[in-house]
Amino acid sequence: MIELNNNNKVPLVFTISDRCKTCYTCIRECPAKAISMQNGQANVIPERCIACGNCVKVCTRDAKSFYNEQTEVLELLASAKNVIACLAPSFPAEFKEIEDYKVVVGMIRSLGFQKVVEVSFGADLVAEKYKELIQNETEKKYISSDCPAIVGYITKYHPHLTDNLAPVVSPVMAIVRVIKELYGHDSRVVFIGPCIAKKNESDSPDNVLTFRELRRMFHIKKISAENITPSDFDPPHGGRGSIFPVNRGLLNTVQIQENLIQGNIIVAEGRVNFKDAITEFENGLINDHHLELLCCDGCIMGPGMFTEGKKFENQAYVTRYVRQKLENLNWKEWQNYMERFKTLDLSRKFSPDDSRVKMPTKEEIESIYILMGKTDERDRLDCHACGYESCEEHAIAVLRGLAEIDMCLPYTLEQLKNLVNELNFKNTKLESMQQALKQSEKLAHLGQLSAGIAHELNNPLGVVIMYANILLDELDEQNPYYNDIKLIGEQAERCKKIVGGLLNFARKNKVAFANVDIHEFIQSCVRSVVIPENINVKIKNFLTIHDFNIDKEQMTQAITNIIKNAVEAMPDGGDLSIVLSNNNNEVEIKISDTGTGIAPEHMDKLFTPFFTTKPLGKGTGLGLPTTYGIVKMHKGRIDIESNYDKTKGPTGTSFIVTLPLNKNLEQ
Ligand code: ADP
Ligand code: MG
Repeated sequence: MIELNNNNKVPLVFTISDRCKTCYTCIRECPAKAISMQNGQANVIPERCIACGNCVKVCTRDAKSFYNEQTEVLELLASAKNVIACLAPSFPAEFKEIEDYKVVVGMIRSLGFQKVVEVSFGADLVAEKYKELIQNETEKKYISSDCPAIVGYITKYHPHLTDNLAPVVSPVMAIVRVIKELYGHDSRVVFIGPCIAKKNESDSPDNVLTFRELRRMFHIKKISAENITPSDFDPPHGGRGSIFPVNRGLLNTVQIQENLIQGNIIVAEGRVNFKDAITEFENGLINDHHLELLCCDGCIMGPGMFTEGKKFENQAYVTRYVRQKLENLNWKEWQNYMERFKTLDLSRKFSPDDSRVKMPTKEEIESIYILMGKTDERDRLDCHACGYESCEEHAIAVLRGLAEIDMCLPYTLEQLKNLVNELNFKNTKLESMQQALKQSEKLAHLGQLSAGIAHELNNPLGVVIMYANILLDELDEQNPYYNDIKLIGEQAERCKKIVGGLLNFARKNKVAFANVDIHEFIQSCVRSVVIPENINVKIKNFLTIHDFNIDKEQMTQAITNIIKNAVEAMPDGGDLSIVLSNNNNEVEIKISDTGTGIAPEHMDKLFTPFFTTKPLGKGTGLGLPTTYGIVKMHKGRIDIESNYDKTKGPTGTSFIVTLPLNKNLEQ
């Protein structure tokens, strides 16, 4: 038997972490809700676990395992002489490949067991006790106590029903007592069966092996059906009790065999049914019935079975064996043993082990619903995807620290959807930033190139202009060369203008900030542009600040470029309005005209150097790129609103220059 520590916290069933993948199947299958989910790992909580082994059975990744005793037993067999095995009556379902049960007994014996006894004689004795109990008691209704997982479940989660547990030992405990009487109190007993919970049942037997462990021991010791001598069980042989694993429990076996108390036993097998039966019993719906409860789908489907088999197939194997056994049983000898052990003490006491946790309040549960985005009752789908029966159960488990919110599938899907949207948004933003970056890179390259060319061109152009002027001064206007030389001078002037523009555009990325009264600054910008009379200029000042840090010389150029463009867009006159405003973070300069507007297909080319729609000799296409560079150096931005289509309303354009306030600039 395994040693329990103070808190009864031996991990009888546990998780093998690297095999566990977040699927919640074990949470769904655990009748005791003894599995917590932390960081995507399903961990068994020892003090809540009833060792039913459901999680071991259902985990397809074999991520749940249980305490193994094969090494201990092998050591025991090597060191002690009188080690006795007692074999569960479900063994024919495990060893389907072996036709003669005596081969199985022989294999177990050759592991070193001195005797091999059937548990079913214990079942015969216990069945008698159940019979007495039910016959003598008319009022009280019992819950069978032969399944240790059920006993654990009742004492932990329905402690007030502890008193209803039949105060009778299990067949295994009974056979251990018989063995000690018969073969000496110093004998050591090892139970072999399909059950994990038996490992936790009591301190008798000394060790519990599941069929899985037994198979492993055969493997280690190289024992097979071929290399052993078959032998029969040692007495006492079991009688009708052998049938209880297929007859839906002990109480039911008694009822069927003795034709007793017809109809007042309810049998419930499996993790869902047994819980329902307890709840109904507790609520008084079936409290005139005795309950026969089995955690597995009958012991023949226990988690310690190695051989997979269907329920009815397993039943058939056990029934076949029992039929044959009862035909050959020496009933007289059986009767003698029954008589001999009639007075054996088979009583047992249970004490409650209340492991219930306080129910959270409605408000606490609501607070989790809010986190899950389930404030509307219709959002609580009870879809079971999280492993819990309902959204409420999941929320309660979250409050108890057993579950995580993201186990909720609809919640996680919603989160994922939001994340995808957010990523899409960020991607678009990133794309436009990438484009802007490309643009400014292009501008920087162009700037470097232009600066080089402009510098080289400037001096020779100056010489050409100077000599053209000298020649013009010396020539008479009537001279046939006069007009040609004049044209040379004019064209060279034009080249110089372009070169000047190029030099401006390519200026170094340096700004010399100074404090400027922004309203005054704008007025001086307007003054520096020649504005025809048919254009009406208005400046509206909504500024709440006055002083502002800018590079005055550069910003004058930027703003005048915009104003010049506006003027040039209104050849027939119009309104030029400049609106100044600010908030806590930014200053906005909005320059609007009632001119031609900008064609939509030109919008994304405006800041490309040399883009112009103006006739040859008029535009250089360097105004806006220069403005863009200056505004960027001030960490500002330019937005453009324009209408080109007369059918959509009055045409015109607004250039909105937004500049961050001083604090930002200084950073
Ligand atoms: P340029 O003035 O030498 O053509 P810019 O870079 O200053 O070069 O302007 C580029 C082009 O942008 C102009 O040719 C014109 O088509 C367009 N543009 C700029 N501002 C306006 C405006 N206010 N109204 C209409 N078109 C404009
Ligand atoms: Mg221009």
